[in-house]
Amino acid sequence: MIKKAILTTILAVFALVLPYLMSGYTIHAADVAIIYCLLAIGLYLTMGIAGQFNLAQVALFGVGAYGSAIATTTFGLGFWPAAVFGIIAAIILSLIVGIPALRVQSHYLAIVTLGLALAFVSIVSNLVIAGQAEGLNNLVPAQFFGLDMSSDYLYYYLELFVLVAGILFAAFVVHTRLGRRLKAMRDDHLAAAAMGAEVPILRMMAFAFGGVYGGVAGVLYAGLIRYVAPESFGLPIMFLLLAMVVIGGRHSLPGVVVGVLALSIVRELLSDFSSVAQLAYGALVVLVVVFAPTGLAGVPARILRLLGKGTRAVQAKGVGPYVASHSPKEHAAATATFSSGERPVALEAKEIVKQFKGLRALNGVSFSVREGEIRGIVGPNGSGKTTLFNVLSGIHAPTAGAIRILGQSSTSASAYNLSLRGVARTFQNLRLFRLLSVRDNVLVALDRSTTTWSWRYVIWPVGVFRTDRELRLRADEILERYGLSKFADSAPGELSYGAQRRVEIARAMATSPKILLLDEPAAGLNGDEVNQLRDIVNDIRTDGVTVLIIEHNMGLVMSMCDRVTVLATGSVIADGAPAEVARVPQVIEAYLGDDAALDNDLLEIEGPASEEVKK
Ligand code: ADP
Ligand code: MG
Repeated sequence: MIKKAILTTILAVFALVLPYLMSGYTIHAADVAIIYCLLAIGLYLTMGIAGQFNLAQVALFGVGAYGSAIATTTFGLGFWPAAVFGIIAAIILSLIVGIPALRVQSHYLAIVTLGLALAFVSIVSNLVIAGQAEGLNNLVPAQFFGLDMSSDYLYYYLELFVLVAGILFAAFVVHTRLGRRLKAMRDDHLAAAAMGAEVPILRMMAFAFGGVYGGVAGVLYAGLIRYVAPESFGLPIMFLLLAMVVIGGRHSLPGVVVGVLALSIVRELLSDFSSVAQLAYGALVVLVVVFAPTGLAGVPARILRLLGKGTRAVQAKGVGPYVASHSPKEHAAATATFSSGERPVALEAKEIVKQFKGLRALNGVSFSVREGEIRGIVGPNGSGKTTLFNVLSGIHAPTAGAIRILGQSSTSASAYNLSLRGVARTFQNLRLFRLLSVRDNVLVALDRSTTTWSWRYVIWPVGVFRTDRELRLRADEILERYGLSKFADSAPGELSYGAQRRVEIARAMATSPKILLLDEPAAGLNGDEVNQLRDIVNDIRTDGVTVLIIEHNMGLVMSMCDRVTVLATGSVIADGAPAEVARVPQVIEAYLGDDAALDNDLLEIEGPASEEVKK
C-alpha cells in the first residue's frame, strides 16, 4: 500500500515536471504518446478485458478526429461542442462495429472488424465533407477558459488530465462488478450467462468503451495536430496499436500504458525507417505472443518465478471441510416434510423436444419436480441428460414443448434471465472463469444486478464502491463455508479437480438460487469428497432449495434422492422413488443390455461436451 503511494507520487511529480525537461520536438511526441495511451486503453477494455477482438479501434479514433474536425469546419462549432460531437459519433460507430459480435467471436470477429476499419479509410478518402485524400487542415485550436491551448506544452497538461481520468475510470470498471462480468464473459460466455450476465448487452458495452476512449483520443488528436487525413487512421496505425497492447500485456492496465510508451519511443527512433519499423513491430508481436503471452506486464512475475520466489501454486491438495448449517436431524426432518406434504411444483417440463440437426437429443420429455425435492436424473451416456439441463437453464431453446419454473413460463427465457429468477447450475465439464481468482468467480455469481444497474458507474460511482465492499464480505463468507478460503486468490487452474468441482458448487450457490442443477458433481471425486458432496447437497436442500442432480454414482443417487427420473435415448423410461425405479425392467435393460445388474463402473464414463449457444 505504502509502496504504491510512493510510486504514484513519484510518477505524478515526474509527469508534472516532464515538459520542463523536453524540447519542442519531444513534447510533441509525448503529446502523441498520451493520445495513443487513451486509444490503447479503449482496446484494452474491449479486447483484453471483454475478449472482443476489435480491429476497428483505429476507425473509432478516426471518427472522433474527423467528427470533431467536420463539426468545426462544416458546422462552425467551437472546439468543445465539436469534441462532444466527435465522441458521440465514435460511440455510435462503436455500437455498429459491435453488432457482428452478437453473432461471431474470436478470429471471425477480427476479420469483420478489420473489414470495417478498411471501409472507414476508403469512405473518408472519398467523402467531400471530409476533404477526401487531402483531409482537413487548419482546424481550430482548443480554448480553455479563454486560454489558447495551441502550445504543445499547455496541451500536454490538458491531455495529462484526460489521461489520468481515463486511467482511473478504466481501473474503476475493471476492479468492480461490471469489469468482473466482462472478464467472466471473456473467459466463458456460457457460464457467465448462467451466472446472470446479459452477454449481448455486455458485448455492446465492451465496444462502447472502445468508442468512448477512441473518440476522446481522436478529438485530442485533431486538436493537437490540427489536421486530419486518411493515412493517420489506416491499418499500419491499427497494427501499431495492437502491438502496443499485446506487447504491454493485454490483461494489465499498467502493462498497456508501458507498452504504448515503449513502442512510442521505438517508433521515434525508427521514424526514418518506417517500412523496417513495421517489420520490427511484427517480429516483436510474434515473439511476445510465443514467449511471453502475458506481455511485458507478466515479465516481473516470470522472473520472480524463475528465481524461485513469488507465488507458488497452491500445494494443499484437498479442500477444507464444508461447514454445514444444519444438523443431520434437520436433514431428516426436511426429508420427512418433503415426503409427507403436498409441496407446490417448482419446475415442470412438458413434452420437451430438442433437435440437433439430424439428432433428436430429447424426444418429448415430461416430468415435474416439487419444491424442496432432490431429484436424481440418471441414464446412459448420450441419453440427453446434459441437454435437458441446457434446455432448463436457458442455454438451449427447446425445439418444442413448454417449461414452467417457479410458476412462470420459462420456455424461451434466456440463461441470464433464469439465473436472476433463481435457477443455478454447474457444468459437467467444469466451466470456471479461468483467468479470474476463485474469489472473483464467486463474486461474479454474487452479483444479482440487472444490466441497467451499470448506469451507476456514470451517475453514482460511490454506490458502486459500497456495494462492491459488501459483495466481497459475502464472498469471503461463502469461501469459508465451502472450505475454500485458502484458495481465494488462486486461479482455478491451480486447484485439484475435486477443489474445482467444489468451487463450481460454491459459485452456483452464491447466486442464492431456488433451483440448483448439478451435472455429474461427483465425477472425478474421491470417496471422502463424495461423502462431503452428499452433506453439501443435503444441507442445500434443508435450506429450501430444490435440487436436480445428474449422477452416475448409483450409491449416491439411491441414498440421497427423493425421486429419480431415468432417461434413455432422449425419453423418460421411468420416474419414481429410487428403489422402485431400480426394479423397472427397461431401466435395467437400458443400462446393461442383457446383464441384469446395476454396475457402477460401467456407468462412470464421461459424456460428450454438449453446451452450445442458444441461437
Ligand atoms: P448425456 O448428458 O446424457 O450424456 P447429452 O445430453 O450430452 O447426453 O447428449 C445427448 C445427445 O445429444 C448426444 O448424442 C450428443 O452427441 C448430442 N448433443 C448434445 N449436445 C449437442 C450439440 N450442441 N450439438 C449437437 N449434438 C449434441
Ligand atoms: Mg452429460
